[in-house]
Amino acid sequence: MKIDLSNHIVELIDKYHESKAEQPRAYLGASLLGHECSRYLWYTFRWAYKQTFPGRVLRLFRRGQMEEETIVSDLRAIGVDMRYVGTHQLELNIAPHLGGHPDGVAVSGVPTAKKTPHITEFKTHNKKSFDDLVKNGVEKAKFMHYIQMQIYTRRKALTRALYYAICKDDDRVYTERIKLDIEVADKYIKRGVDITLAEHAPSRMSENPTWYQCKWCPAYDLCHKSKLTKEVNCRTCAHSTALSDGTWKCEKWDDIIPTEFQHKGCRSHVLHPDLVPWEMEPVDEWNCSYDGKTNGEDGVSSLEIIYGVIGKVASEFDGTIESGEGSPGGEFGRIYNKERDIPKEVK
Ligand code: SF4
Ligand code: SF4
Repeated sequence: MKIDLSNHIVELIDKYHESKAEQPRAYLGASLLGHECSRYLWYTFRWAYKQTFPGRVLRLFRRGQMEEETIVSDLRAIGVDMRYVGTHQLELNIAPHLGGHPDGVAVSGVPTAKKTPHITEFKTHNKKSFDDLVKNGVEKAKFMHYIQMQIYTRRKALTRALYYAICKDDDRVYTERIKLDIEVADKYIKRGVDITLAEHAPSRMSENPTWYQCKWCPAYDLCHKSKLTKEVNCRTCAHSTALSDGTWKCEKWDDIIPTEFQHKGCRSHVLHPDLVPWEMEPVDEWNCSYDGKTNGEDGVSSLEIIYGVIGKVASEFDGTIESGEGSPGGEFGRIYNKERDIPKEVK
């Protein structure tokens, strides 16, 4: 009998990609700002849910990225002067908590507008999505891509963007030149600023848990079901505030929180009241009560609250729970949950 190892190979490759999962971005990306649900954007910026992808999907994303090199090569072959591509992509600071990376800039040579510089965006599509794009155009078929390009074009002080789409099924190509609409670009930049600085979660796009867009949302459980975040970091903490200069401040430690520290948080973490299903009852300045349990430095930790509630107690936990005196500007060693462990004892 021939032993088929092919599935095993795929499994190993997929596990490799899954193990390389990245940390969430510090800023809210322009690629998301056209999303219909402001609450989803707030959750995303607050690192309040974690979206994981199977290895196959991660490989699919990689394929999309690898396509960029081919597209640039084809554009250059017809005389388009492509700059800021690949590892030299521009990092655009759109507003204090908003950012993005355009796929490139066509400085000149775009057919029919050879002297006009264009922001470029390259996207791969499956057949259904590509057919819809050809039929309806970018603004109607891919509104988030449209807004992304409007914002990049505005921030680079250009007037045009070039959308280049390729169909993964049959290599068809669709291109569209997009004209800057200043009003639209500014409206969506302002939307992003308002969402990132909002202390509370904006309203849901639908209060109906069976609404089709909600059913696909990676924040569905947090938003409509358990209504409880599973993430403990500075951005899900009631003591943190996103400031208008692009930094985060911890009220508890009266200090600016470095980004690398925000991923870990400290033992004084208190769950943000919009990320739990209960009413917050203040106990004192730094502790509150949820469902009869004190949460904060003098009470049970946020991880204990979360995992006590959903009944998931990790038997493998071998860490210790320290009484947390670590501060964002101080020693990181006191942060007990840095490996994302789940406490064994749930009070
Ligand atoms: S589940 Fe629906 S309402 Fe909630 S964040 Fe997602 S899209 Fe918005
Ligand atoms: S440092 Fe601690 S108290 Fe301050 S925001 Fe982060 S988790 Fe909350």
